[in-house]
Amino acid sequence: MKVIVAEKCGFCPGVKNAISIAEEILARENDVYSLGPIIHNKDVVERLAKTGLKTVDSVEEVESGTVLIRSHGAVPKDIAKLKDKGIKIVDATCVLVKRLQQIASELDAAGYKVVVIGDENHPEVRAVVGCASDVVVIADEADLHKLPKSGKLGIVCQTTQSPEHFGRMLGAIGQYGFGELKVINTLCKEAMNRQQSAVELCKKVDIMFVLGSLESANTRKLAELCKKYNKQTFHLQNWDEFDKNILFGKGTAGVTAGASTPEWIIEEFVKNLGNFDGSGF
Ligand code: SF4
Repeated sequence: MKVIVAEKCGFCPGVKNAISIAEEILARENDVYSLGPIIHNKDVVERLAKTGLKTVDSVEEVESGTVLIRSHGAVPKDIAKLKDKGIKIVDATCVLVKRLQQIASELDAAGYKVVVIGDENHPEVRAVVGCASDVVVIADEADLHKLPKSGKLGIVCQTTQSPEHFGRMLGAIGQYGFGELKVINTLCKEAMNRQQSAVELCKKVDIMFVLGSLESANTRKLAELCKKYNKQTFHLQNWDEFDKNILFGKGTAGVTAGASTPEWIIEEFVKNLGNFDGSGF
């Protein structure tokens, strides 16, 4: 099987930074917590757990040691609670997520109703919501009813949304006829590059594999996008989920991976797929 790997795929700088900070702390301390899984990839979470990283769901579970804030950031009131308890905090929030939080807070202070285009259950969005007093989160057109009837809106976007979706939602919001819309582009270039490079690859191959956790928002977005350009797109977590029957009649396979998918998962998949000789049908 001929296998082509997307030019841009796998770990982004924000994720790499959070993991290397975690490794540094774990090398010198043994009471270290991550507020939520450090990234949406269970292989990486399990590997770091073996070296001592304890994942907790809430600040109430931590009474001592050091807490790592992952690349998605954390809700300001949770950070304040940790400080009140005297817990040491190491902040690995991605700089682009920090920028989004800062912009939301500034728009709020300037009297805008902050609109975040994104998934309200995603930790990055929950942290942004916590940075402003007056926020509404809209995922798609079905959420437009949440918008106020008038006033001025300050619009931002979850960093990993696609530019197409951001643009479509801005058009839909514009139709409501607000007096003032202030739009700040908070999309992540790394996520966009991965999406663009995956789309280009989709057009050249018979079958497309998107590797990464089903819980990873950016990987799911990548898979949705690839499906639009190549119906034969499969979102798999790793090689264990591969089923050779889907290769029937295919000559060239494309592989991409989300920003939270480690290199070793991509390498193993590409190696095994490349060795596949099509026998057994
Ligand atoms: S996808 Fe972009 S915004 Fe998210 S952690 Fe990576 S670099 Fe930062």
